[in-house]
Amino acid sequence: MKTYDKSISRLQAAKQHLAGGVASSLRASMKPVPLYAESAKGARIRDVDGNEYIDYLLAYGPLILGHSHDGLNASVNQAMHSGYAFGLQHDGEIELANLLAQVLPCADKVSLSGSGTEAVMLALRLSRAFTGKTKIVRFHGHYHGWSDSIFTSFPSSGMSQQASEAEASRVPPGTFGQSANSLEDIILLPWNDPAALESLLRSRGDEIAAVITEPVMCNSGCIQPLPGYLELIRKLTEEQQIVMIMDEVITGFRLGLGGAHERFGILPDLVVIGKAMGGGIAISAVAGKAEIMQLVDDGKVSHLGTLNGNCISTAAAIATISHLAQDNGAVYGRMEELFNGFADGIRSLLGKHGIAGVVNQIGPVMHMMFIDAAEVNDFDTFNQRDSARYARFAELMLEEGVLLRPNGLWYISTAHHKRDIEETLDAMDRALARMR
Ligand code: PLP
Repeated sequence: MKTYDKSISRLQAAKQHLAGGVASSLRASMKPVPLYAESAKGARIRDVDGNEYIDYLLAYGPLILGHSHDGLNASVNQAMHSGYAFGLQHDGEIELANLLAQVLPCADKVSLSGSGTEAVMLALRLSRAFTGKTKIVRFHGHYHGWSDSIFTSFPSSGMSQQASEAEASRVPPGTFGQSANSLEDIILLPWNDPAALESLLRSRGDEIAAVITEPVMCNSGCIQPLPGYLELIRKLTEEQQIVMIMDEVITGFRLGLGGAHERFGILPDLVVIGKAMGGGIAISAVAGKAEIMQLVDDGKVSHLGTLNGNCISTAAAIATISHLAQDNGAVYGRMEELFNGFADGIRSLLGKHGIAGVVNQIGPVMHMMFIDAAEVNDFDTFNQRDSARYARFAELMLEEGVLLRPNGLWYISTAHHKRDIEETLDAMDRALARMR
């Protein structure tokens, strides 16, 4: 039986001066306690109580090379000996921009920022400036960061019915303190619903600046786009002179070197990347068509940030991307094969224990949920999963030495190997046995 005494007392100590006791609200939900980490290497992480875990949380996605990767460490180390940030320009920015232009099909030009939230803000601003229109279409169940201009909570159900009216009339704010009119320009649609999209874009295309979408609904069930759906977004946005933004903060450098847009063969106007791009060091970017990015060149659209393009971030991104690109991106094939087998292994275990569940997986990202359904392909069905049961499962897995995100989204890195997966499946076998 593991104990978490030191994490419990650290949390109490943290709460004295650190608001919420954690640095990002989501982290407070971990049971039995938000863990305090001591060190991590590769696929393994150790907490302050000396417990070791195989890590599938991976800092909520960025650690595509695993923890404390030797090559990444060396590059960051070397960079920081010349300085951390200059407020001047440096060669790392040019090298990174060139690299991004080389590997991302959509990238004529890029702008560098610090977080996914900031990069989404820039993409929205560019879209409005480019089109001269103001409305932004976003989808139910997707997440695009926590800025006031786009952060929303989701009506729990009924979205499909609202779709027939083409849009929800009121988009609910995501948090207390969000300005009441900050979402006035947001139109919320159900995702993977071609009719709702077509009807809205054809009737109100002259008001809409952008459609922003996760290419795979990673934040709600890892649900893939219906065949032809991303193509339809592309076709309608082109027809209506609307900017298509693909939010690849999760899928960028995870579903392949060229992200989801390369994988699905769609060329959006703008792509937002973050997380895996820096391998765990804060950096993000908007990448896109020259004619839109030109607005930054012209100084018409302000793009600001004190630490944008700092030496440590650019060195980290160059090292991460270069490592992923070795042998024509062979690591992606290996990660995918490993996770395909893993997802199948989980499905077999659910069957063995007679527990109803669904595993949605694509490449090195996966969502496991407890739900009595044959498949989960839409947000309304996803909402019927048993979240409390999953949280209990995640707690049992922790006891078995496996660190999971409490909501069901799993990531792997290039540092995960077959033996980690086998060990995890054995741990899961024991955990599921305790849940029957
Ligand atoms: N977009 C997507 C799809 C995300 O999943 C996230 C974060 O999870 C963001 C944007 C915001 O990124 P950040 O947390 O770096 O601000």
